[in-house]
Amino acid sequence: MEDLFPEEIGLIRDSVNKFMETEVVPVMDSIEAKGDFPRDLVIKAGAAGFYGNLFPESVGGSGLGYLATAVVVEEFARNDVRFASCYNQQAATCPYCIYTAGTTEQVLKYVPPLLAGETIGMMSLTEPGGGSDAMGNMHTRAVRDGDFYVLNGSKMFASMANETDVGVLLAKTDPDAGHKGVTAFIVEPKKYDGFDARPVEMHGLSKALRTNAIFLDDFSVPVENRLGEEGEGFRIVMQALQAGRITVAAKALGVARACMEDAVRYANERMMRGSPIGKFQMIQSDIAEMAVNIEASRLLVYDAARRMDVGLPCNRIAAIAKYHASQTAKMCADKAQQVFGGYGIATEYRVSWLKSYADLFFTGEGTANVQKILIAEDALGYKVADRHHGSTGFRDPRRDDILDEQDGTLDKAKEA
Ligand SMILES: Cc1cc2nc3c(=O)[nH]c(=O)nc-3n(C[C@H](O)[C@H](O)[C@H](O)COP(=O)(O)OP(=O)(O)OC[C@H]3O[C@@H](n4cnc5c(N)ncnc54)[C@H](O)[C@@H]3O)c2cc1C
Repeated sequence: MEDLFPEEIGLIRDSVNKFMETEVVPVMDSIEAKGDFPRDLVIKAGAAGFYGNLFPESVGGSGLGYLATAVVVEEFARNDVRFASCYNQQAATCPYCIYTAGTTEQVLKYVPPLLAGETIGMMSLTEPGGGSDAMGNMHTRAVRDGDFYVLNGSKMFASMANETDVGVLLAKTDPDAGHKGVTAFIVEPKKYDGFDARPVEMHGLSKALRTNAIFLDDFSVPVENRLGEEGEGFRIVMQALQAGRITVAAKALGVARACMEDAVRYANERMMRGSPIGKFQMIQSDIAEMAVNIEASRLLVYDAARRMDVGLPCNRIAAIAKYHASQTAKMCADKAQQVFGGYGIATEYRVSWLKSYADLFFTGEGTANVQKILIAEDALGYKVADRHHGSTGFRDPRRDDILDEQDGTLDKAKEA
């Protein structure tokens, strides 16, 4: 379906599809078979500008904003959601934390290579004790020792941690201060000992782009790599998760569309009793339910993104969009499997594993229950979801002050 996009967003959508169809889709199955992380494809995606929409040109972005981001992620996921797995690490949560909270030096050193796909990012908040109350369950400790912090503890479900060059990791500097004791760090696991990332075996998810348990054993982080002040980690990460929630909703939308496209193709090809199964009304009922919910999800995701682009409050609508799109992805994956009959669970067809991604988007970046709590507490008048005004992103005024006035900042950083 055509959307009333500004021309530049329609163009970027077309170029994402061309990139995925020519560069990614033809090789992704063999990458999966080997289990190798596709660094060269990430570099190509970065060079094409697909990771830079939330950031200004002065750090290597395009400044196109959240709607452009949602459209890029949706098309990534529709074509091959496995490749979309590292999107937040390159283009949203990880560089977003650094961009919004970092010093000029930190921003110029770490953000441009992430957006270019030249370094691999990571965002490690969750711990084994439970992700829904990540701050309350945080036991990883960071203790200052001269010019370094020494980190000990374990993190859970840190995507791309086994590949990361530059990540953001949250740890407690004051264990008695609740969420005010959490500090954010830019970590460089390849430079210092004591960082052990072990991929977690996940049913139906990529073996090339993976999530990990991390074990920190006297892992060093230079003081200059602290993001913001001690105790500011909660604020920094909450802002970034809002950006992350839109991208997860867009990924779910892309998966829902992939399921429907496959189901429609199969329903037109599979012959039963002399006619394609698409002619059977119960199959048509499944297709119709997919179409209706996909269009509703799309409107919600784009509306949330457009609100973020103009700085309107959007916490509530982003939660609704994420909840609806992830429900839709689960429903479409389930219905697509039914349309495929026995072949719907044969690994030969991607509908057999798209369900696992739909399940992930139901849980990641705030579970469905967590979204429902926010939506219901707002509706019941207990807590206004949009009490924090506006989004930040590439329009963050603090960053405009620092970066946009400086001609050639990125070139100078590259030379340095
Ligand atoms: C493949 C994958 C990749 C991930 N990548 C990352 C990453 O890169 N970085 C990162 O930091 N994290 C990542 N996560 C973690 C993800 O964000 C968490 O899984 C999520 O926040 C839920 O935490 P949990 O799994 O510990 O579940 P829990 O928090 O233990 O929740 C278990 C159940 O209890 C429910 N529940 C919890 N609290 C309440 C409540 N108050 N009321 C009602 N129900 C409640 C939840 O909705 C859920 O159904 C990833 C997870 C997966 C599976």
